[in-house]
Amino acid sequence: MMDKDSYYLEMALNEAEQSLEENTYPIGAVIVDEIFNLISKGRNRVHPQQDATAHAEIDAIRSAGQAILNAKVNREKFTIYTSLEPCPMCTGGILFANIKKVVWMINDDLGFGGYRKIKDANVFDDRFSEVVLIEEPFEDLKKKQINLMERWSINSNNIVNLRKAVNE
Ligand SMILES: [Zn+2]
Repeated sequence: MMDKDSYYLEMALNEAEQSLEENTYPIGAVIVDEIFNLISKGRNRVHPQQDATAHAEIDAIRSAGQAILNAKVNREKFTIYTSLEPCPMCTGGILFANIKKVVWMINDDLGFGGYRKIKDANVFDDRFSEVVLIEEPFEDLKKKQINLMERWSINSNNIVNLRKAVNE
């Protein structure tokens, strides 16, 4: 049987591909319960929804709805799978959603990756100590996600290309 982590990361990758097709940053996220039932899927929708906060992890948390609140009451441990190390906003969202395991395809050292920076700042130790973190578990999925991000680099909605267009 296929590894569950790789199965759900692959699902997140499919969401990221769909984001790219919608001309927005290619990030996908998937939430499952502790026996690996699918709870929700999300993807980046910043450009289609014209909403700077419409990140994949937030999208998945919103779509999970009541299940997230019930999980807290029932002490159920949900997992979120995501393309990229979450930004500071999504890191906060994950902690608010009481998610107990975070798995991502690529660390984000150059962009707005925030999870490890905030965790390492030791400012919310009681929260972070309850969350299992798995970084970059699969080299093949990491490469596939990098490929999507490279494809994003030529998209006209990319800020770098928007700036170029303004200056031309
Ligand atoms: Zn985010």
